[in-house]
Amino acid sequence: MVIKQRKVAPILKELNRFYVDSDHTCRGPYFVDLAELGGNGQCDCDDFRFKVKAYEIPDLIEKGYWNRCKHIVAAVNLKALIAVRHDENKKL
Ligand SMILES: [Zn+2]
Repeated sequence: MVIKQRKVAPILKELNRFYVDSDHTCRGPYFVDLAELGGNGQCDCDDFRFKVKAYEIPDLIEKGYWNRCKHIVAAVNLKALIAVRHDENKKL
C-alpha cells in the first residue's frame, strides 16, 4: 500500500510534539502530542476531539489497538523516519 506523506513539522526540543497540516487550506495545522493518552497520541482536530473517547483508549491499547486520526499516524510515521535516519547516521 502506498501512502501519501502529509506535511508534518516537529516542534523544536519537543520530542513527541508535532504540527500536522490539514487537508483543508482554511484550517491551520493541527497540534499532535504523541506522549498523551498512554502513548496513543492526541490531536486537536475535530475528528479526534469529537469522535474519540479518551477514557476508552487505555483499554484499547491493552487489547492491542490504537485510536488514532490521520494526523497522529502522520506524526508517528515521521518520528519513526527520524529514528531510522538517526540510527543510520550512527552506523557511518
Ligand atoms: Zn487529527
